[in-house]
Amino acid sequence: MTSGHSPPVPGRRSPAWPSAASTVVGVIGDPVTHSLSPLLHNAAFDALGLDWVSVAFAVRTGDVGRALAGMRALGVAGLSVTMPHKEAARAEVDEVTDVARRLGAVNCVSLHEGKLVGDSTDGEGFLAALRRGAGIEARGRRCLVLGAGGAARAVVLALASAGASEVVVVNRTPARAEAAAALAGSVGRVGVGEDLASAEVVVQATPLGMEGAGGAVGAVGAGGPRAYDELVDLDGLHSGQVVVDLVYHPLRTGMLERAAARGAATVSGLGTLVHQAALAIERWTGRRAPVEAMWSAVEVEVNR
Ligand code: NAP
Repeated sequence: MTSGHSPPVPGRRSPAWPSAASTVVGVIGDPVTHSLSPLLHNAAFDALGLDWVSVAFAVRTGDVGRALAGMRALGVAGLSVTMPHKEAARAEVDEVTDVARRLGAVNCVSLHEGKLVGDSTDGEGFLAALRRGAGIEARGRRCLVLGAGGAARAVVLALASAGASEVVVVNRTPARAEAAAALAGSVGRVGVGEDLASAEVVVQATPLGMEGAGGAVGAVGAGGPRAYDELVDLDGLHSGQVVVDLVYHPLRTGMLERAAARGAATVSGLGTLVHQAALAIERWTGRRAPVEAMWSAVEVEVNR
């Protein structure tokens, strides 16, 4: 051995040495090369001292069934599922948790005794992020969710399950807002922009403000911050509110800038990302996730 590294010890993680004995997990999506999931998973495996490794798999639309069959055949222990595959993955697993069934989407697949079990951890991850980022619980809170896509639906269900007193959904397409609000049962309703002022917790769950190859969604060629104002009246933001943006690239979105300027507490989307990854680690390994180590790793990466 000339590299200076020691050979791997079975069952122990040696970061430079994924080996024939290593357990593999990963993330599937398209695009996926930007994903922070492998970094979060590998930070957890390092901290736990497990000989596990996480990688990203680019899977095209239409190939999710074959990807999950490959997971089973190869003994890949777990997969995180990101856009655009969460609904397709729901249809391809053997069993789903109650949350994944109600959402019709899966963001975490585990291989248990040959069976693929699908779960949805975004909502629970969001609640953990709210707790850590703002020090509050959803119970008894008046909440407003902006958006009605997969992320918004997970948040709506999680808020209602956690005992929120009201979950108001505001979305560009009214029919989708109705369907999302229905997930909250008797505390859910479709709202209008002016409802923002009376909410205690505001969750931005659309891609508005997200930076991509073409610049920020809703900011380039769409009237800048006014893109938010087409959905809600941001002048209604005030101190005493907590505003969470699920977008984490950039960490400080236009929504959070506006909220902070008006005295509201703000929570970036990084927390939900970290905590849903921590929940995946717990589903896959049966061990308590080393959340602080995962936070440290991702903070180094995003502040690079
Ligand atoms: P999705 O299923 O495609 O839903 C997108 C939602 O945003 C829909 O309600 C859509 O409205 C609305 N929307 C899209 N473009 C809009 C625009 N220009 N103006 C107004 N509304 C617009 O997406 P998703 O999976 O829910 O993800 C939403 C965001 O959350 C993404 O940025 C994603 O990266 C982020 N996310 C973050 C985490 C995390 O861990 N932090 C987890 C999941 C998702 P219509 O219904 O009218 O089309």
